[in-house]
Amino acid sequence: MKHADEALTNALIHLGRDNQSNGRSVNLPMYQASTMLFNTVEEFEQARDSRYEKGTLYYGRYGNPATFELENMMTELEQGAGCVAVSSGLTACVISLMAFAKAGAHVLVADTVYGPTRAFCDNVLKEYGVSVTYFDPMIGADLSSQIQANTQAVFFEAPGSATFEVPDIPAIAAVAKAAGVTSILDGTWSTPLFCQPLTLGVDVVVHSGSKYISGHSDAMLGFIVAASEQDYAKARKMSLSFGDRAGANDVFLALRGLRTLSVRLRQHEESTMKCIQWLKEQPEVEEILHPAHSDCKGHEFWKRDFKGAAGLFSVVFKSGTEEKVRAMINHLTLFGIGLSWGGYESLALPVDPSSFRTATTWQPVGPIVRFNIGLEDADSLIRDLEASFTIFK
Ligand SMILES: *Cc1c(COP(=O)(O)O)cnc(C)c1O
Repeated sequence: MKHADEALTNALIHLGRDNQSNGRSVNLPMYQASTMLFNTVEEFEQARDSRYEKGTLYYGRYGNPATFELENMMTELEQGAGCVAVSSGLTACVISLMAFAKAGAHVLVADTVYGPTRAFCDNVLKEYGVSVTYFDPMIGADLSSQIQANTQAVFFEAPGSATFEVPDIPAIAAVAKAAGVTSILDGTWSTPLFCQPLTLGVDVVVHSGSKYISGHSDAMLGFIVAASEQDYAKARKMSLSFGDRAGANDVFLALRGLRTLSVRLRQHEESTMKCIQWLKEQPEVEEILHPAHSDCKGHEFWKRDFKGAAGLFSVVFKSGTEEKVRAMINHLTLFGIGLSWGGYESLALPVDPSSFRTATTWQPVGPIVRFNIGLEDADSLIRDLEASFTIFK
């Protein structure tokens, strides 16, 4: 397994720590600020006039020194031009769509995107005069046939939610670029350590910071990172126009979480591969949907474009096992039942991706369970699975 670049690992430790303005402490403080004070009216007016610019201290909603350090860190990790920290991953998805698709536009959205992103496209974008076409995430360069005269944005996810298909990122980004369309990729699964979509030609990458980046199931925030200054300015202005901002506590937790991202991901990866190794030998298991596993669509693109394997994946069980699969999940003791993922704790949840699709059909032979492999001892996780799988016997 390839590991994160040395430079990225070191950047996680050394970026975002301006200890001169910081009482010499290692960590930045949490900036609890709404009002910011100026010495003169002229100084205030200067800040007001540049309030949309990166790093301007004007009013709490526009960001504080810790927000800017975190944004700079994400910018460096993604090799982008700028980053906006927003209040959730979903906010990052929807604000980027609002920033790059205007009324009258058409947007192309991968059939496998995160459910609430899809709900926003169906319930909000369409109401605001933006038409949406869903596309097969495996379409690659053939996406060019779906571009219309008014297409303004392509939104996709790598890998797709619930079924984990890995699209050909450079091919899709190239189609968008050739047509003058903004490509936006949800890169939450891989974090910048395992994939850097902007280096593959994508214009804008969005992340849920609530997952691996903060990493402890205690924060909610998101990021929009753009490759160009121009796109960064559009995203920042849109988020500020909505009055959206990542909260001070969540910014603190994300800065803290990033410090250990590299070691956490390495452990998640190792334990995940062990669990998959065990799961794939079980007679009740039909298929493993994880980009690092050869069953998974786009496995070859994962090998080409990603540096590692995250701990979120799905397992398709044999047909007729619905009841037993639910009982198996209920029997697990180290795996919690609940939404989100990317924290230190393992999770298991039944999912039904077939209900969302329109551009592709997905007819799994049996029930699907999404697993998040946490930081428990991997052998203990396997023993927990073993004990629960006795339900199938
Ligand atoms: C969780 C998730 C989101 C939404 O993030 P929140 O911080 O929960 O709003 C967006 N995209 C993907 C791929 C996710 O897994």
